[in-house]
Amino acid sequence: MDRLLKTDHLTTLCNMNSDLHLFDQLFEEGNEESFQLAPSLPSLQELFADWLDLFLQAWKLPTHVAARWEELRGLYSLTERISLQYCRSDQLERELRQLGVFEEREVKRLTDGLQVFLKIVRSSELQPIRLCTLEMLELWWQALPEAFAWDQLKLMRSWGLDVAWRKEAWRVWWRFQQGKQTVPEHPRQWVSLCQQVALKRGCQITKVEEQVARWAGVHLRQEGPCQTSPNCATCRIQAHCRWAQEETAPIDVELAWQAQDFQGVSTQQLIETLIPTLNLPEESGQTKEGNLLRRVEGWSVQQWQQQSENAFRETQLLLELCRRHGEERLQPGETFHNSGDLFRHFRHRLRLLKQKVFLVVLLDNKHRYLGEQLITQGLLNRSLVHPREVLAQAVEQRAAALVCLHNHPSGDPQPSSEDHKVTQRLKESGQLLGIPLLDHLVIGEERYVSFADEDWL
Ligand code: SF4
Repeated sequence: MDRLLKTDHLTTLCNMNSDLHLFDQLFEEGNEESFQLAPSLPSLQELFADWLDLFLQAWKLPTHVAARWEELRGLYSLTERISLQYCRSDQLERELRQLGVFEEREVKRLTDGLQVFLKIVRSSELQPIRLCTLEMLELWWQALPEAFAWDQLKLMRSWGLDVAWRKEAWRVWWRFQQGKQTVPEHPRQWVSLCQQVALKRGCQITKVEEQVARWAGVHLRQEGPCQTSPNCATCRIQAHCRWAQEETAPIDVELAWQAQDFQGVSTQQLIETLIPTLNLPEESGQTKEGNLLRRVEGWSVQQWQQQSENAFRETQLLLELCRRHGEERLQPGETFHNSGDLFRHFRHRLRLLKQKVFLVVLLDNKHRYLGEQLITQGLLNRSLVHPREVLAQAVEQRAAALVCLHNHPSGDPQPSSEDHKVTQRLKESGQLLGIPLLDHLVIGEERYVSFADEDWL
């Protein structure tokens, strides 16, 4: 194992063989029965609607009107009006222009995206196995900005396709192999690695990924230690993990700032960097972030610039400090007692977001917090969320109950009629599967509304 670890494995895909070997050695334990995929692709219409949701959200379309579902209906039913085999780009453009919803630039972008979608449909004939080959995945990604590549995989997983989709599993594997180097954002390497391992073992790709994901705390029977802040002390693969070996050499704050990734920087490092740069005199008890934040509270911009030569950098470090200070996050295994617990857990992340996000919190049979999953992000025009996406996560991770929550970027947490409808559908679907929906929280700027507290469930 040591010999293997001395080699750089994952820098290029050419080194895949040694990766396969490591996978076999480390991650084949815990061969428990996994959630079996039952590929049942939705109809072309549904597939297209899901893809459109993601596409519109990824490119922030339509941006110039508050388009309602009524106005977009023509777009969502486009595949009923065009020939999948022969539709030309000028026809597509004409159809999209006639909708009167999009600006010219947006029409062009949507036409390009749609052509890619149609190409995928034509060349895969919607065969599940062909839809997620590496070649086809490159096409899916081609139509979206890079930051949405994982969302595309997640969407495909919600269609029942056997594809690697968990960013957390990629993160743990990367930490294990590469230590504290910044994790590549794009899932390409991860997807390819999981496919090769699955092929070698003759098992499902999702099964391979699930084994790694256990370490990331996304496998709920064995809460993994390698979450955003890894708990290496309790990790069984610590002895072989590069991240753990590099623990003694802390990440440089300057480098972390340049990469805009403070994950590996401790709170203490942030404080120690800020105190001299802000010209603050030494003071007892300054090691707590709250003490430092109180000292700079109320500084004017001029005062700020006088105190710091690099105000922009310091502001970002302080923001990171504020974020950490404000979080009262539940840890896996902690019990969720009431809506207030969840509000405190999420408020700092959600309250000022400009986009709507919908999350599901998974709980075990004692209502202990197991984990959370982002279901949708951005303004979806059709509906807030589909119960299939929420419950697939709960079934996949064997949750016994769930709580949903989303934010209102307007700051007013009062639920809309659509929120009520979605909640009702989630409640009914949850009852069918024996995974009750305990609450649905709507988070505004400083307040929240709980469906359970209001007795609407
Ligand atoms: S040793 Fe630490 S960083 Fe490595 S996999 Fe375990 S928890 Fe993650």
